[in-house]
Amino acid sequence: MLGKMMYRPLTISSLIEHAGRYHGSTTVTSVETSGEVVHSNWGEVERNARKLSAALARLGLETGDRAATIAWNNRRHLEIYFGVAGGGFVCHTINPRLFPEQLIYIINHADDKVLFIDATFVPAVAKLREHLPNLQHVVLMGPRDEAAAEQIEGLLFYDELVAAEDDSCVWPEIDENLPSSLCYTSGTTGHPKGVQYTHRTNVLHSLGGNQPDGKGLAARDTVMAVVPMFHANAWGVPYIAAAVGCKMVLPGPHLDGVSLANLIDSEQVTIALGVPTIWMGLLQGLAETGSNAETLKRTIVGGSALPTVMIPTFRDKYGVELIHAWGMTETSPLGTLNQLLQKHDDLSEAEKGAIREGQGRPPYGVELRIVDDEGTLLPEDGETQGNLQIRGHWIIDTYFKADSTALTDDGWFDTGDVATINADGYMIIRDRSKDIIKSGGEWISTVELEDIAIAHPKIANAAAIAARHPKWDERPIVIAVLAEGEALSEAELLDSYKGKVASWQIPDKVIFVSDLPLGGTGKVLKNKLRDQFGDALLEA
Ligand code: ADP
Repeated sequence: MLGKMMYRPLTISSLIEHAGRYHGSTTVTSVETSGEVVHSNWGEVERNARKLSAALARLGLETGDRAATIAWNNRRHLEIYFGVAGGGFVCHTINPRLFPEQLIYIINHADDKVLFIDATFVPAVAKLREHLPNLQHVVLMGPRDEAAAEQIEGLLFYDELVAAEDDSCVWPEIDENLPSSLCYTSGTTGHPKGVQYTHRTNVLHSLGGNQPDGKGLAARDTVMAVVPMFHANAWGVPYIAAAVGCKMVLPGPHLDGVSLANLIDSEQVTIALGVPTIWMGLLQGLAETGSNAETLKRTIVGGSALPTVMIPTFRDKYGVELIHAWGMTETSPLGTLNQLLQKHDDLSEAEKGAIREGQGRPPYGVELRIVDDEGTLLPEDGETQGNLQIRGHWIIDTYFKADSTALTDDGWFDTGDVATINADGYMIIRDRSKDIIKSGGEWISTVELEDIAIAHPKIANAAAIAARHPKWDERPIVIAVLAEGEALSEAELLDSYKGKVASWQIPDKVIFVSDLPLGGTGKVLKNKLRDQFGDALLEA
């Protein structure tokens, strides 16, 4: 007989089994919806997840059925992640900030059989309930609560479901190619689209994405997932944390800077992950609390472009390394992450800093390319901009319930982003193709214009958008939010663009507002801004 290696399927249950067995006493800290801080551990998470998988089978769920969540980042949500997928069901995480019509659409489209909700969402779900004919059970993530039970008929209680199961239940054997989780993209235009991951893609994403040059989590870390658990599998952090068995902190509903600064200090967080708006808030929170985030070493920032001024601020003031990453729901999400190479050792700090501002390079497991509108390959010279395409072990093929593949004829996924790639594979997102400003046939990057505005010390946040223009079709305008207690004129802000971009790229107008509209994952909704301010140059 020829030699043969053992085959063990790459399953979500194998991750949590490992955490339970080899890191059982390692803490999982959870800020509950009530605000209470509870310390659990991987042993308890594994046990409860296993019992939950048995409870779901008892409720009548069959392999491949969807069980959804509308919840904050907390320990029960973590148990549901593993219990649902580990049981052979599909964990469908839903963004709570969607409009009621979108929630109804998504739950019905996914054909969810069970819906787990945090107490916060009882009133909202009570209103939706009659529009969800196929949903069989709503489960409140907590102990029995009579007031909630009065609002939703037949409401079940998570703690009771789990307590009713015997600890001797075992994880079922599962094919690694079965689906394990489902996330919908936020669908800023048209209906949201579902991306269904498999056990295999999620495990490979966890392993491939956590190389030392990737997220680089280790057992001695304390990781705080600020990125919501409904945003692309919380960037894989729950799976990775289980695989390495590090301490995990789940911050619950309050993601303001002060709450996060306090949590970083009380739980001794070493690494945290989230979108740029979170870290802008944290800077304010640190200033307010006087904390210097002593234990925090790294943050991984992605989801939208990192304002470059944040890199030196975090480094010089707090000793925190900001690592820029790029990805999408369709890519599990990790596509690239920015670490330096050995050949960069001798560069000056400024040169190194310039490299780190980009979105970085792909880890093993994904490949990138840029093409023009006809699909012709473009040079990777760091200057030529093109449509960014991706393929790899954890990239989408077909949207949930779609009739045809989402891929090009030769098997790549078009991201909708416009990017450059240099000879070392470092990629820079220049814009989303729908956001980029097309002024008289030339392209202007909104990312670059925003970065300059945000770097101004009197500006708290800013977005650049295309405004319709009678001569140039589109011209850039900036919608800006002033930092607290500051005053700044339009001319002063526009002055700061001089010498930083070509003169024809300087925005035509600045509109000051008190807030920017944010989507459920903390990104600025530029389509809303375009609706509101897109005619600002015509009116003049
Ligand atoms: P959506 O924002 O549509 O809800 P995703 O979270 O999947 O869905 O967003 C993916 C998109 O976010 C990418 O295609 C890209 O445009 C943007 N994005 C993600 N990370 C970055 C980054 N580091 N820099 C710039 N843009 C980013």
